[in-house]
Amino acid sequence: MYCGDSLGTAIDHFEPIKLAPLRAFDWLNHFLACEYCNSNAKRAEYPCDPLTGACLLVDPSAEDPYDHLQLVLNTGRYRAKTRKGEATIATFRLDRWQLERARRDAFDRCEDMLRGYARLLSSGEHQRAQIRAEALLRQPHADVLYAMVRTLDAPGAALVLDDDIAGILRTRFTVPSRWRA
Ligand SMILES: [Zn+2]
Repeated sequence: MYCGDSLGTAIDHFEPIKLAPLRAFDWLNHFLACEYCNSNAKRAEYPCDPLTGACLLVDPSAEDPYDHLQLVLNTGRYRAKTRKGEATIATFRLDRWQLERARRDAFDRCEDMLRGYARLLSSGEHQRAQIRAEALLRQPHADVLYAMVRTLDAPGAALVLDDDIAGILRTRFTVPSRWRA
């Protein structure tokens, strides 16, 4: 969860135990996170709206992060679309340079893998293509692939996504229906 680097070694209590001791053993309050996100970035932070009391962090188990965060693919940087997005970037330090560099790398890697996937499909190697597609979904920073899919219908998509990449994404990778507008 959170940074998407796929190095989950810690369990984060989304709503910190300090604030909600009764949720200490609530399964739905446990997220697998990396050590940095859990112990260095978020710690016991849980920003809430002072008026409504509503949590200002995007809950990745229940919300589409894309509603609150936009990934600029060629810089690897997240931009906040909402106040919640802003608090999420700040709390999890999603703007750390290591993550931005890793997301830029992941963007290049996704393009290469998507082209390889399309080549395998067109030469009739469906099983190898399937393995390639699964690896693509498992790789660190899979949020980049997701952002590529979400960028397809955004204005200016053609500036960041080549036609061939856009074509593969459009026909083979879709947004979960519960999050589709
Ligand atoms: Zn992390």
